[in-house]
Amino acid sequence: ICYTRCNVVDIVKETLVMAASTIEEKQIGINTKFPRQRQVLLGDCQQLKQVFINIIQNSLEAMPPGGQLSIQVHPSELDGKDAISVKIVDTGGGIPLEQLNNIFTPFFTTKESGTGLGLPIANRIITNHGGKIQVTNHPGLGAEFRIVLPKHW
Ligand code: ADP
Ligand code: MG
Repeated sequence: ICYTRCNVVDIVKETLVMAASTIEEKQIGINTKFPRQRQVLLGDCQQLKQVFINIIQNSLEAMPPGGQLSIQVHPSELDGKDAISVKIVDTGGGIPLEQLNNIFTPFFTTKESGTGLGLPIANRIITNHGGKIQVTNHPGLGAEFRIVLPKHW
């Protein structure tokens, strides 16, 4: 892996630019909250971008037109180390409880033409970076993905 300094907010913004046409077509509202200070970590920036692409793509696919996507970046801590947390919340109805255990399993998909690889790949990249990925379900509302990445290790 190629480790360099990655600006997490820039990566999130780039991902949103890539998704701009889908966001506009579906009239998705975007809510972002970014910290004032630069949030930089040591990692493979391309791979980290892939993580946000995969998770945001799922959110956009889950939401009906007029949905709301919220992205918050916060300074955080992981096992006592400086970390960065990224929270991605959608209004796509959430993940049924009986599926919640399977979403990180390769090839698990509920979509007609899904690959079931987006989340397993995201999970592996985050794990390789010493981070964690958490899912919270808000039944009837939407899903919340929280990624915590140590700044260095
Ligand atoms: P794919 O998108 O190809 O189905 P993923 O690994 O990206 O594969 O996601 C696996 C499954 O997790 C999806 O098929 C879907 O059922 C569920 N899922 C993931 N993200 C969300 C979300 N934001 N809202 C609702 N369900 C989701
Ligand atoms: Mg996917």
